[in-house]
Amino acid sequence: MEGLLFGTAGTPISAKGNDSISGIGRVNELGLGCMEIEFVRGVKMGERTAQRVSEVAAQLGIKLSVHAPYYINLNAEGETLARSKERILNSAKIGHICGAKSVVIHAGFLQGSTRQAAYGKIKKELIEIIEKLKSEGLDITLRIETMGRSSQFGSLDEVLDITEVEGVLPCIDFSHLHAITGKYNSHEEFAFILGRVEDKLGRDGGLDDMHIHVSGIEYSDKGEKRHLVFEESDFNYRELAQAFCDFDIKGMVISESPNLEDDALKLKKEYDSMSKNK
Ligand SMILES: [Zn+2]
Repeated sequence: MEGLLFGTAGTPISAKGNDSISGIGRVNELGLGCMEIEFVRGVKMGERTAQRVSEVAAQLGIKLSVHAPYYINLNAEGETLARSKERILNSAKIGHICGAKSVVIHAGFLQGSTRQAAYGKIKKELIEIIEKLKSEGLDITLRIETMGRSSQFGSLDEVLDITEVEGVLPCIDFSHLHAITGKYNSHEEFAFILGRVEDKLGRDGGLDDMHIHVSGIEYSDKGEKRHLVFEESDFNYRELAQAFCDFDIKGMVISESPNLEDDALKLKKEYDSMSKNK
C-alpha cells in the first residue's frame, strides 16, 4: 500500500457521469487516490462493467474498495440470513473483478440478543462466508465497520476482536465512534483508537493497512442521526489528520460527507501539510 490515500464514498459529485468509471476519472483529476464503490442499495454492477472498472482504475492508479448493501444482518436466521450472506458474496465477487481489495460490511443488529451472543453468531457466519470466498478463489478482505448506534454490532472492541477470524479486518469509521459516545473527537482520543488497532493488529496487519470512513456527523444520545459536511459539524478533522500523521498510518480514508470530494480534499490538505512539516 502506497502511503495514505484519500477518496470518496462513491462517484464524486463533480464527475461528469454518475457511474463508477466517471467517478474514478474524476477522483484522479482531483488528485485523490482512492474510491469506494457503493453497492449500498444492492449489487447492480455486472461483470463486464466491473472488468472495465478494474482496467480504468489500474490505468490511473486509483485504489478501490466496495461497500456491501446496507440490508445485511448476520445475527439472523432463515431468509434474512441467507440473503445477507448472498449480498456479501455478490459484493465480494463483483468487487474482486473491479480489483477492490476490501468489502466494507455493516455486520448486523443485536435485536434482543446479548452482545456476546451476537458476536458468536456473526463470527460463525463470517467464517462460513470466508470459506466460500476461498473456495471460489476470491482474494478479498471483509472489513467490519464500527457503527453509529448501540443497537448495531460494531463497537470498537467488537470490530477489533472479530479480526480473530482470518480474512476479516476493521473499517474504522471515526465519525460513528464519535456519534455513539460523544467522545473520540480529539487528538488524544483518535490516538487512543489507533493505539488499539496497533495493539491488536500490529504495524503490518493494522496501521499499514487501514480502512477508514470519516464525515461530519449529527448525533443525539441515541447515536448517529445523519452525515454532515465537516464545517457544519463538531467533528475535529484537523486533529484526526494529525493523528494519522503521528501514527504514520497507510491505507485508504473514505469521505462520506455529503459533499464527498470537498471534505476528502480538505482532510488530505490538512494531512499533507502536517506530513510536510514533520
Ligand atoms: Zn458503512
